[in-house]
This record gives sequence, structure tokens and C-alpha cells, in this order.
Amino acid sequence: MVSTAKTILVTGGSRGIGRAVSILAGQRGWSVGVNYAGNEKAAQETVQAVHKAGGRAIAIKGDVAIEADVIAMFDATEKAFGKLDGLVNNAGVVAPTADLADMPLERLKRLFDTNILGSVLCAREAARRLSTRRGGKGGGIVNLSSVAARLGSPNLFVDYATSKGAIDTLTLGLSKELGPEGIRVNAVRPGIIETDIHASAGEPDRAERLGKTAPLGRAGTAEEVAEAIIWLLDDASSYVNGALLDVAGGR
Ligand code: NAP
Repeated sequence: MVSTAKTILVTGGSRGIGRAVSILAGQRGWSVGVNYAGNEKAAQETVQAVHKAGGRAIAIKGDVAIEADVIAMFDATEKAFGKLDGLVNNAGVVAPTADLADMPLERLKRLFDTNILGSVLCAREAARRLSTRRGGKGGGIVNLSSVAARLGSPNLFVDYATSKGAIDTLTLGLSKELGPEGIRVNAVRPGIIETDIHASAGEPDRAERLGKTAPLGRAGTAEEVAEAIIWLLDDASSYVNGALLDVAGGR
């Protein structure tokens, strides 16, 4: 099968896994809407890297948990590149490690708003625009879950693991709901990957330290996760739907 150049929206595309996905898409000659929450400099660096790789990109500021922002980021991507083929539902946050009994309400709200509500709103917007039943051309959605969804992350961040369990369920349900409408929906479940996210959990050395405990003996890179995500969006994976693909070094 000959793969066609895609236009995708990557939420949280400014840093980490989202940045690696954007750059790999650029290497394929794809066009990318690079969404970010507040880090304009990082987003512009990603855009430049996509251009250098051979693709097209624009930076789009917006909070995935705000409905109007989500609509605007889809509009901006379609306006810039004339079409949309896929969504990488990647934006996600974690908070400092703690027992659930010690987690304040505000933390839980922020985490669930970003990781669950944000992902659901973005998936809804993609469904509205891509569904063949609604006049779209079909496409793909890749959701960022985590191995935390099956490990549970006790004494670390049960709230985060819970949010990723919701992403697995969203993926399974939507793959069945949208498959008949021309949209394949899959999830990638990374293990411990070298990005900034560990610093936001108060453990900047987490990837280095815990990576060693994975069967492959090291943390993964954002680029290794990006390979799986781009494959799931590409025509090469045309019969893959509803998969929860672990990219976790066997963890
Ligand atoms: P990261 O390096 O911390 O980057 C997070 C990205 O999300 C940034 O681009 C950030 O934008 C954006 N973002 C945060 N809140 C947002 C919001 N409300 N609206 C829009 N964008 C927002 O994270 P990462 O490690 O690449 O993680 C990416 C995804 O993979 C997440 O869903 C995470 O849960 C999942 N994951 C990561 C690991 C890991 O070990 N790294 C493991 C399993 C799963 P700014 O740059 O503007 O702040």
C-alpha cells in the first residue's frame, strides 16, 4: 500500500513525545498543527524542526480542557493545510507523587480536566470532522495512554493511572463507534520515557533511575514512542483498530 502524506493535529506537540511525533511526521512530508499550552518558545522550536525535517507546521496555543480552544485548534490546522487526516491526543500532565489520601481536590480536577476531559473533547472534535457519516473523509486517532493504566501506580500517582485507564476505555469504545465511519482509533501506552514530565512529578531523575528496571534495561526515548504513533496513523496499519500498543520495553 502506498502511504499518503497526512495532515495531523498533535496536542501537546511543543515538547516530549508530541514534539518527536511532529518531527517524525515532518520527515514523512506530513503537515502538523503543533498545539501547546503555554510554552511558545518550545512550540516554535518544534515548528522549525518540522520544517527542517521536510514537513509543514504551525504552532497553535490552546488548552485541551477548554472547548473553544479545542475547536479553534482544529480550525487553525484545517485552515493552514486545507484538510485533516488525524489527531494525536497527546497532551497530558502528572502531579507530584503522593498517596491518594493526600491529594487535594484542585490537583485531581486539573489532572482529570487535562487528561480525560481534554482527550475526550479532542476526540469528539476529530469525530465530528473526520466521520464519513458526518461528511468527512475518515482518518485516524491515536490516544496517549500509559502502562500506568494497567499498573495502577500505587503510592505514586493513582490519579494519573486512573486517567489513563479512562483513555484505554475511550479508545476501545471509540474504535467500535467510529470504525464503521472510517476512523481508526488506537492507543499507545508508553512505559518510562525520557521527557520533562518526570520533573513535573518532582522526580527529574525518574527515567534514568527506573528505566533500568525495565526488561530492556533502560528508559525509552520520545522518538521510539513516536515511531509507534506515526505507524498507527499511517496507511501501513490500515487493519489496526482498537489496539492498546505498549511501548514500554517489556515493563
Ligand atoms: P511533557 O514532556 O511533559 O510535555 C507535555 C506536553 O503537553 C507539552 O507540549 C505541554 O505544552 C502540553 N500540555 C500540557 N497541558 C496541556 C493542556 N492543558 N493543553 C494543551 N497542551 C498541554 O509530556 P510527555 O512525557 O511528552 O507526555 C506526553 C503524553 O504521553 C502524556 O499524555 C503522558 O501522560 C504520556 N506518557 C508519558 C510517559 C513518559 O514517561 N514520558 C509515559 C506514559 C505516558 P507546553 O510545552 O506549552 O507546556
